[in-house]
Amino acid sequence: MPKPILLSVDDDSDVLRAIERDLRSQYGAAYRVIGSDSPEKALDILKQLKVRNDSVALMLADQRMPQMNGVEFLQEGMQIFPEAKRALLTAYADTNAAISAINEANINYFFMKPWDPPEDHLYPQLDDLLDDWRASYKPGFEGIRMLGTRWSPRSYELRDFLARNHVPYQWIDVELSANDPETKRLLDVLGPESSHLPVVLFPDGTKLLESVPAEIAQKVGLRTRAQTNFYDLAIIGGGPAGLAAAVYGASEGLHTVIVEREAPGGQAGMSSRIENYLGFPTGLSGGDLARRAVVQAKRFGVEILAPQEVVSARMEGPYRILKLADNSELSCHALMIATGVQWRRLEAPGVDRLQGAGVYYGGGATEALSCKGEVIYIVGGANSAGQAAMNFAKYAERVIILVRGSSLAATMSQYLIDQIERTPNIQLWTHANVAEVHGESHLEEISILCSDTNKVERVPASAMFIFIGALPQTDWLTSLVERDERGFLLTGPDLIRDGQRPKGWTLTRDPFLLETNIPGIFAVGDVRHGSVKRVASGVGEGSVAVQFIHQYLSKV
Ligand SMILES: Cc1cc2nc3c(=O)[nH]c(=O)nc-3n(C[C@H](O)[C@H](O)[C@H](O)COP(=O)(O)OP(=O)(O)OC[C@H]3O[C@@H](n4cnc5c(N)ncnc54)[C@H](O)[C@@H]3O)c2cc1C
Repeated sequence: MPKPILLSVDDDSDVLRAIERDLRSQYGAAYRVIGSDSPEKALDILKQLKVRNDSVALMLADQRMPQMNGVEFLQEGMQIFPEAKRALLTAYADTNAAISAINEANINYFFMKPWDPPEDHLYPQLDDLLDDWRASYKPGFEGIRMLGTRWSPRSYELRDFLARNHVPYQWIDVELSANDPETKRLLDVLGPESSHLPVVLFPDGTKLLESVPAEIAQKVGLRTRAQTNFYDLAIIGGGPAGLAAAVYGASEGLHTVIVEREAPGGQAGMSSRIENYLGFPTGLSGGDLARRAVVQAKRFGVEILAPQEVVSARMEGPYRILKLADNSELSCHALMIATGVQWRRLEAPGVDRLQGAGVYYGGGATEALSCKGEVIYIVGGANSAGQAAMNFAKYAERVIILVRGSSLAATMSQYLIDQIERTPNIQLWTHANVAEVHGESHLEEISILCSDTNKVERVPASAMFIFIGALPQTDWLTSLVERDERGFLLTGPDLIRDGQRPKGWTLTRDPFLLETNIPGIFAVGDVRHGSVKRVASGVGEGSVAVQFIHQYLSKV
């Protein structure tokens, strides 16, 4: 925890040095002593300290300074750090001014110059002031602080990014906390910069205005660039399948890299509670699973580049070469594609415009708390929708699940249906299709077409979460590997047609299970044609594929 600050201001450098020396020798172990030779500079220092979320315990200013006297400085400083104790240094001639300052300007104490010996004329009084300050001192949050507004898509994108990458941060909604005095002070100190939301403040005092995930990734030390340009195994996608392959590959000696576009954990990272994963009888959150897997992978030396996207892949002899979004390249002997699936878009007027401002794809883990006491809608009837409904029901006043069919039976696991039925504030609305969403700057209403009555109902809503199935995004792989008509990648036996190996296949063996039509390129998890869309099966495929990779590498 950073030490609270004692700030002294005096335009006479000899006096400034003396007071700093005395403060440091008595209080240096518990406080940081900062000196300034001008009140203007000292006010700038106070502003920087506010941005860093530091605490100021004491402001000690000489009364006689040109431009701004001590009382004036302390009054301005008080606007920034109202809790700090305020004291004046005065000469005998200024005693009367100091006494009236105590009464009129909320100054806590005045000290006469010279204060020798400090043991008699400085420390006892300062001890009292600092004890008093300590009694009501609450240490500020030490990590990253983010200022934004709930309905801003950019704020939402950043919060989601930080949460999914397990970067701790404090969220300050500048609209919701507009009347909070501390927020007001912070906004005042930031001045015009505070209009460039989202603003991200770092503990070292630096800030990013209108920031985007890539800038923050760099600042918080997420690795987006590879350490070397060649790996035994490169994995595209850091979901359960990719992470499992990395753990097995690296633990068996393969020099392994994962390239992940958003955050390790993939879709599973968005799950509020996975209850059917072996070994976790009370379930675990996807975020927790992802965090554990990342720690495990890193322990075995896996390099994880995130956020970083693979935009194309090609072959050069035995090498498979990946081009990344920042135009860098890395090559490998074996390549694993574990890119999963992405949410299908909901085609209804208003959805695209209000995305991130009340309309969200997936769990919106960061949104759950904001939905306290509100009525929210979940679109979709699969397990992911059921899990989200259970999670939101803990916070929202009412959760309404919209499904097109007549029940959840065909699409959701029974254990979730049972939980939903037992949760009084979850309501199921069947035969319901989202026809349109409405709102100026954020979602306010949803028009729902009821297919059983053919009527449209317009209902108020503050948030809508869409879970309507997912498809792979594999167009960028078209010229390299074979896909089915929906874009899923074909592997192993799926590539053998009429007993014939795939076109262009030159080896004397068939493609391995989980190997694509290009030797040494494997596909695992949800992106693979015919895969079971589950965490355990992705993990299983990722782990098993490593055995085939060893066999492949033994002959490269
Ligand atoms: C909300 C929700 C709840 C779920 N609950 C359960 C559950 O309770 N039990 C269960 O068994 N299953 C559950 N599932 C399903 C399960 O999460 C998936 O089956 C599993 O995550 C698939 O793993 P994967 O590694 O194949 O792909 P994904 O998890 O989809 O991961 C793929 C990763 O690849 C990345 N990527 C894609 N393209 C690129 C590229 N070009 N460059 C770099 N990276 C890229 C993506 O960003 C993503 O992180 C749930 C899914 C969701 C969405």
